[in-house]
Amino acid sequence: MAAMTHAHPFDYIVVGAGSAGCVLANRLTASGRHRVLLLEAGGHDRHLWIHIPLGYGKLFADSRVNWLYKTEPEPELDNRQVIQPRGKVLGGSSSINGLLYLRGQPADYDHWRQLGNSGWSFDDVLPYFRRAEHQERGEDALHGVGGPLAVSNVCEPHLLCEAFIDAAQQAGYPRNDDFNGPTQEGAGYFQLTAKKGRRWSTAVGYLKEARRRSNLVVETNALASRILFEGRRAVGVEYRQGGTTRTARASGEVILAGGAFNSPQLMQLSGLGPAELLRAHGIGVTADMPGVGEDLQDHLQVRIQYRCTEPITMNDVVNSWRQRIGAGLRYALFRKGLLAIGAGYAGGFFRTSPNVATPDVQAHFIIFSGEASGAALHPFPGFIASICQLRPESRGFVRIKSDPAAPPAIQPRYLSDPIDRDTVVAGLKLLRGIMEQPAMQHYIAEERVPGPKLTSDADLLAFARSAGTTVFHPTSTCRMGADANAVVDERLRVRGIGNLRVVDASIMPTVVSGNTNAAVVMIAEKGAYMILQDAAVATPVARIAVTPP
Ligand SMILES: Cc1cc2nc3c(=O)[nH]c(=O)nc-3n(C[C@H](O)[C@H](O)[C@H](O)COP(=O)(O)OP(=O)(O)OC[C@H]3O[C@@H](n4cnc5c(N)ncnc54)[C@H](O)[C@@H]3O)c2cc1C
Repeated sequence: MAAMTHAHPFDYIVVGAGSAGCVLANRLTASGRHRVLLLEAGGHDRHLWIHIPLGYGKLFADSRVNWLYKTEPEPELDNRQVIQPRGKVLGGSSSINGLLYLRGQPADYDHWRQLGNSGWSFDDVLPYFRRAEHQERGEDALHGVGGPLAVSNVCEPHLLCEAFIDAAQQAGYPRNDDFNGPTQEGAGYFQLTAKKGRRWSTAVGYLKEARRRSNLVVETNALASRILFEGRRAVGVEYRQGGTTRTARASGEVILAGGAFNSPQLMQLSGLGPAELLRAHGIGVTADMPGVGEDLQDHLQVRIQYRCTEPITMNDVVNSWRQRIGAGLRYALFRKGLLAIGAGYAGGFFRTSPNVATPDVQAHFIIFSGEASGAALHPFPGFIASICQLRPESRGFVRIKSDPAAPPAIQPRYLSDPIDRDTVVAGLKLLRGIMEQPAMQHYIAEERVPGPKLTSDADLLAFARSAGTTVFHPTSTCRMGADANAVVDERLRVRGIGNLRVVDASIMPTVVSGNTNAAVVMIAEKGAYMILQDAAVATPVARIAVTPP
């Protein structure tokens, strides 16, 4: 028998305090009119390395803050299992991610609109990007200031990044100083969700302020195990905390924000999903929803490793105690230097063919090297340039295996579509075309992996199969749309079920052409607005609490 933990129902229960959940907790409590319960399976975000951008590399394999998922064997990747880190802590993946702030392309959102999702064209979503943002460079038509999400420049230029950007120009691509500006194409520095050298997760930007409000209750180490229904209406959540099973009721809505793996998992565990899958696990079918957990998309990146001619890489700093101390002091005193950078430093967006209208691949340029993401850095000067296809055609799935504490089966089915195989090969050739330019050649002692002997398309595809890995952008497992397999409608309401929404990366109809955190924050800003708007319609007295961006 589950213990009833909270004597009174909440207006809203938000499951998951990640990128989206923290935004929701803030916006839904701002007026003071709604009581909100925020459930988070992980703990507090006190871990030192969460807040220092470089700490990103230390959180890859830390089970205190990370679900440490991995995929099922991937048939087109030599049956390898690919790591899938996900934040399990306040702030969710925004507490462990690479900090890059990229929105994708306006065409991504116009495409969502074309798929039948009214209210999601770029013009529609831009006000929510702007509302979220505090852009260090100031306000303009595309950027906002005064929002909770701090966006800043990298702290200082780096010789190798300058060389990469120059080499891209030598290869015929433009320099681009704002990938979230009028055009995405070209090479340049990324911006970071950081402020004064500190990570700006949504826990820092949104939740910290909201936690001062008495109408928000945050439960950590609280794993939602089941959505509770009366008929086809969600009325609460069952969760496990400290060895006890508890329940909480929502008189308004239950909002799932567990991310692209956990939101479909919780729906399936609660009887919303493909009937056959649910029955196979002995779960009663509340609604047969074949789309729940399907359409998983992710960006597959393939990394080329280089040995550098000069000791100017992060490897050289990390491998010298003198330089480590120097870097530590520089960070402590000025919040500058290598500790203030996240995953990628510079990069670019490129078209692999003149036949594509907008960039179809993204490069990440990283001033360190190691054998794998999160692995120890090489004992010699090295750096990495990687390529990922921006709009994969391959579709995978997330399916429950057993109980909520056990990871679901995750299979993105990378490279299962021939277009993706062609694009990854074209992308690798394009990237090498940049690295072969004089500006970059000056710093390249050798291409270590895959090495110059691999040149044919077949070689490069074989390399992608053997070495390709995620760039951490799973989406679309509770896809928004108007078709029979779509899980949520354009107001993010679960189709056919009352009082239940999904508001996180899983609702993206298609993955955006860039890193996904900014898009998730936008989705949550818009989701919160729609939730409050719907509440205001139902209860006119609440109308004044709803301010459009
Ligand atoms: C290693 C890594 C690097 C990345 N780098 C970048 C980058 O540089 N730039 C970028 O834009 N994007 C990056 N991303 C992607 C981006 O961070 C994610 O797309 C985004 O954070 C997803 O937000 P979300 O709200 O959907 O899920 P999450 O932020 O993952 O939040 C889900 C939350 O729900 C909690 N939860 C899940 N299930 C339950 C349950 N049953 N009960 C209670 N709580 C639950 C989780 O613990 C988690 O806190 C990266 C991601 C990772 C993992």
